[in-house]
Parts: sequence; structure tokens; C-alpha cells
Amino acid sequence: MIYAGVDIGGMNIKIGLVDIKGTILADNSIKTDNTKDYKGILEDIVDDIRKLCKHVGADYHDIAGIGIGVPGVVDSRTGTVSYSANLGWRDVPVVHGLEVASGIRAEAANDANCAAWGEYKFGASRSMDNVILVTLGTGVGSGIIIDGRLFDGVASAGGEAGHMIIVKDGKQCNCGLKGCWERYASATALIEQTQEAMDKHPESLMHEIVAENGKISGRTAFIAAERGDKAGKEVVEGYIDYIATGLINIGNIFHPNAIIIGGGISNEGEALIAPLEKKVNDGLLASEHNPKVRIIGASLGNKAGIIGAAALVM
Ligand SMILES: [Zn+2]
Repeated sequence: MIYAGVDIGGMNIKIGLVDIKGTILADNSIKTDNTKDYKGILEDIVDDIRKLCKHVGADYHDIAGIGIGVPGVVDSRTGTVSYSANLGWRDVPVVHGLEVASGIRAEAANDANCAAWGEYKFGASRSMDNVILVTLGTGVGSGIIIDGRLFDGVASAGGEAGHMIIVKDGKQCNCGLKGCWERYASATALIEQTQEAMDKHPESLMHEIVAENGKISGRTAFIAAERGDKAGKEVVEGYIDYIATGLINIGNIFHPNAIIIGGGISNEGEALIAPLEKKVNDGLLASEHNPKVRIIGASLGNKAGIIGAAALVM
């Protein structure tokens, strides 16, 4: 039995064939053709699934289901994308469209929820029933698993931890609110904080590192801190504090077994995870009497979306 997992974004679509153990048998990335309507894009996806089947010598009719992760608000019960800014979709019946195009049963969910589901089923948090995934990328995404089930609120409109307000009247967010966590804890925010510190500290190593790498990135301050740069260390510490603020809120509301950290920034590994685990547990209510909330790096990397989407139909 094989399953297809699709992770659709505004620029690219990642598609994979996955077995029941969560192993990717073959995968591919195609361009999102924005000149086409959603039906055309879904046909591109089905064409690619057929190609992948040929590639691994599988019969297309052996595919038991197709799962798709979509950036935006996805009502997984009705299979409708209410809104996706990246794709320009509004009220798109993505599951129905995919079933018509493929002749195969389909399911859909928000992309961060798919990643959380993938990590829960096959990744870092296997065997834990209460897990929150937080992805630190361009924005801050989240997926909440309570008692082994995805929780995303009425019409799947909830579960958006990135837009919890951590600074009243704080920085303007794309969503219209001010002071959202993602304005302080995303990779985008880290780059902004790095730039501000560089402007203030012409002596900082960060200038050399940017010159070496050709551009400022989410790594700049971490590299500088590793090399002992004071301003770089301050940026990293301040940034980790912002992440911890949101994680403490999540920890006090859900007290999960673990919070999984994904997204590009999670590649910093222990330099990020160890101080976060300490700060978060220091910030939890009655922490000395309760089990620790573990902070763990995501283990499926950028394949979590494909694997999690496929796991929706298993
Ligand atoms: Zn926001």
C-alpha cells in the first residue's frame, strides 16, 4: 500500500510517494504554475504522481490516498481552502478537485498541521500524545496535537500560535494585528534584529560574516556568537528570549510532552534548543512539581510536509 503526500507552496510543489512506515519512496518538486486555476494546478500534481509511480515501478492504482498540505486556512472537515494568500485561493474545494482529477481518495490540511502530524506519526515525537510543533521560518507556524489528534478549532481556523500577541501595541504584523509572536520569533524577525544590531555596532564581527556570505541571514548572529562576538551574542540571546516567551505561553496552556522546533532556524541545533528548554521550563507554573516539557528539534526536516500530508490518508 502506498500513499501520496503533497506540500503545495506559492512557488513550488513538493510531491512524494510514501509507504505505511513513513518512508519516502520517491519525491519530486515542480513549479507552482500560477497562470493556471486550481484545477490546472491539481492536474499538474496528478501528472507528477503518475510519473513518480513509473519511476518506482508502482501501479498508479496502488495509491490508497492522496494527502495535501496547503499554506493558509484549510477546513480539513469539508476539504475546502477558505483562504490562501500564497496561492491566491479563496473557497477552493481542494479535496473534491483532487479526487476528480486523480480518481483517488484525498484529504487536506494546513501545511503546519501536516508537518506536526508527520513529526507526531514518524518523527521526533513518536510515542508522545501531546505535542506542539512550532516552525520558525519566514513566519511562525504551529500545529497542535492533543491526545493524539490534531486540534485546529472551529472550521480549522485556529491553532495559529504565531499570531498570539506577545507585545501589546508592538510591531505591525502582516495579519493586521500588532505585536504578534511571529514579528519577534520568525527568521524574518531575526534578520531584522541582526540588521538593527549591525547598524548600532560597526565593530561587530557580523559585518565581516555578512561580507563573507554575501548577505545577511538567520545564521549571521549565530555564527558571530559562536566566534565570541558580543553584539552577536546579544542578538541571539534576545531572539531566544522572544521565542521562549511564546513557548512559555504554549507550555502553560497545554503542558505538552514536548514542543518540537522546526523551520530553517531549527538547524542551529543545541545552541538554540538547550537554552530554550531551560528558559521554558523555568517559566512554567509549578515546574518543580510537574513533568518537564521537552524541547526537541524536528527530525523530518523539509520532508515533514510530504510525510505528514501522506499520513493524513493512512
Ligand atoms: Zn499576526
